[in-house]
Amino acid sequence: MISMNANHSSAPKPLLESMTWPEARVAASNGGRVVLLPVGAIEQHGPHLPVDVDNRIVVWLCNEAARRRPDLILSVPPIHYGFNEHNMGFPGTITVAIDHFINYVFDVCHSFVRQGHTRIVLINGHGSNAMPCALVARRIVNETEDALAAAISHWNLARDLAAQIRETPVGGMAHACEYETSWYLFLDPENVQMELATPDVMARRTSFTWVDLMGGEGPVAFTDDWSRISNGSGVEGDPMTATIEKGRHYAEEEVNNLVRFCEEFKGLPTLPRRNYTARGQDANPYYQE
Ligand SMILES: [Zn+2]
Repeated sequence: MISMNANHSSAPKPLLESMTWPEARVAASNGGRVVLLPVGAIEQHGPHLPVDVDNRIVVWLCNEAARRRPDLILSVPPIHYGFNEHNMGFPGTITVAIDHFINYVFDVCHSFVRQGHTRIVLINGHGSNAMPCALVARRIVNETEDALAAAISHWNLARDLAAQIRETPVGGMAHACEYETSWYLFLDPENVQMELATPDVMARRTSFTWVDLMGGEGPVAFTDDWSRISNGSGVEGDPMTATIEKGRHYAEEEVNNLVRFCEEFKGLPTLPRRNYTARGQDANPYYQE
């Protein structure tokens, strides 16, 4: 008989994909590690970048964070396709209907909870996935007994750095831009065709609406079909200002902040829910009959 003692291995593995099931069981025991689920998209990224930009970035981030802290973090295989209807006018873009996307990503996250994990973080790489990822995280908190889930769009981990090093003015860094092109130059420079890069910075359509990865969104939520308003390149920003050095800075900043968040998130207690309603039994310190 083979002993199933899984504790014989030395260092914990950072990636779920390379684990056996006994190793996966250990990683999920005692509340489990913080699960990092990369959520990306297959989408046009201008004439100079491959369609897998969003996937490449978030997979690298999650894997690198887990390699640095395999005792704390488990990186798991990604969600490759995203919610992308607004870009379907461009070749190379694939979309998943919003309700399918939410239910599918929820099912994946919920599976990790059913396996024993109690801390789930969605690391999103695609602007239109941000709202549905936040909703999935909310559903995990609401619909499970003891799991906490959060969602991060990865560029938000580098806001402070961007304010220091960006050259594109606020309102002009949104897609296949200075930021995303710098990231890809860092990850895989041979697959960036800089000779085809072109700036495409649009004027604001109203004074209440704009999108900037690092400068936030305008006060009004409004996403039009991109083929209606793009000049045709698919770019939103100025990739000409991208450099490999900026990409390295962004990568380091984001992975450091991600590890810090995981440390704090793992340390958060899951407090008991209370029922103060007329149906509940819990004593309310502010209200006695
Ligand atoms: Zn992108």
